[in-house]
Amino acid sequence: MRYELAIAGGGAVGASLARAMRGHSIALVSGHRPATAPVPGPGDFDPRVFALSPGSVEFLRALKVWDVMDPERLTPVHAMRVHGDAQQASIEMDAYRAGVPELAWIVEDRVLQAALWAALGTQDRLEIFAPAQCAGIELGDSATIRLADGRTLEADLLVGADGADSFVRAAAGIAAREESYGQTAVVANFDCEHSHRNTAFQWFQGGPVLALLPLPGQRVSMVWSVPDAEAARLQSLDAHALASAVCEASKGSLGSLQLVSAVKALALRRLIAERMVLPHLALAGDAAHAIHPLAGQGLNLGLQDSHVLGRVLAQREPVRAPGDLAVLRRYERERSEAILAMRATVHGLHTLFGSESRLLGRVRNLGMNLTDKLPVLKNALVRHALN
Ligand SMILES: Cc1cc2nc3c(=O)[nH]c(=O)nc-3n(C[C@H](O)[C@H](O)[C@H](O)COP(=O)(O)OP(=O)(O)OC[C@H]3O[C@@H](n4cnc5c(N)ncnc54)[C@H](O)[C@@H]3O)c2cc1C
Repeated sequence: MRYELAIAGGGAVGASLARAMRGHSIALVSGHRPATAPVPGPGDFDPRVFALSPGSVEFLRALKVWDVMDPERLTPVHAMRVHGDAQQASIEMDAYRAGVPELAWIVEDRVLQAALWAALGTQDRLEIFAPAQCAGIELGDSATIRLADGRTLEADLLVGADGADSFVRAAAGIAAREESYGQTAVVANFDCEHSHRNTAFQWFQGGPVLALLPLPGQRVSMVWSVPDAEAARLQSLDAHALASAVCEASKGSLGSLQLVSAVKALALRRLIAERMVLPHLALAGDAAHAIHPLAGQGLNLGLQDSHVLGRVLAQREPVRAPGDLAVLRRYERERSEAILAMRATVHGLHTLFGSESRLLGRVRNLGMNLTDKLPVLKNALVRHALN
């Protein structure tokens, strides 16, 4: 079985790349096969949600994936309110003042996956191996991929989009710098007493970070990044006690809360692969870089990887094959700066707000208030985050 492109990993990054490369002969090998049927009733929301930047939404629209999603399940973010860890320190960003229709969109993981996989189901020249595991690779004049069930595929280019624990990255011998944050993100959905007014809220708590993201109606999705032991404690609370803890940590901004979903926990780490490409091989998404969710940018970076890799492959000179290193280096060069800049910003914020130094404490809260009072700087920050 020979293909131009094989993709390991059918998460949002791998699936979006398969879609972006439609027209080419593609093998998609995925550990899971998401349901493509419409998601359950209006009251049932996935506790895993993503804040997608307008740039990511534009990309998904071009893939004909965005407009098929049920609009009732998509929530535009019109404002963002971020609180420091001192009284009164806060910054508010507003789509209207920044001159854009929205700052981001909140979408459930399973809604996005269902839309991507439904689109892939209609795609010519795409063969899906799922559920299937990529269990061995060999790089020579092409990439040979051995599946766990014994089948063998061959492709000119293999893309590892198989997540932070990437088998492809390890099997290709690409080292990764990796570090645990010592934090776990606890995620769950709540109904709230007061309207969220399409605002995303965030509280820096001197290390831990609490975010409440707007969902349709009077509902929010929580991402609370806390030390691992505290995450275990939060998970052990009953529904009422957890809702009270979140209400207290969010200073009652949305009134009383009621837990309406399962509670999930995800360990947090930061990771960067030492390179994104080799002859006949490329990495994309969390397989290449993983960051703290405090800025809600990990998947946005991964979707941009798909977008850029798809474009670079489509624009290559006809004499060059997809796995040609010169072509792949173009992709790596184009992505490096954005990835490193986002990584530095997110890690800088995490370190600044996690520091126990009193001086840094004053600096971070003062900086927040100052930025809030400088509309030009604030709007420039907003525009930067829209990509
Ligand atoms: C709490 C939390 C909140 C977040 N919020 C946001 C947010 O608001 N906005 C945002 O942009 N990002 C956010 N992120 C980051 C985002 O979740 C990730 O960046 C994104 O899911 C990575 O997608 P991916 O497709 O690269 O990897 P994954 O989603 O991990 O997918 C990997 C795929 O590879 C498959 N696979 C693994 N091994 C193999 C193998 N050997 N063979 C075949 N298939 C394999 C798996 O089955 C899976 O389908 C958040 C992260 C966390 C932890």
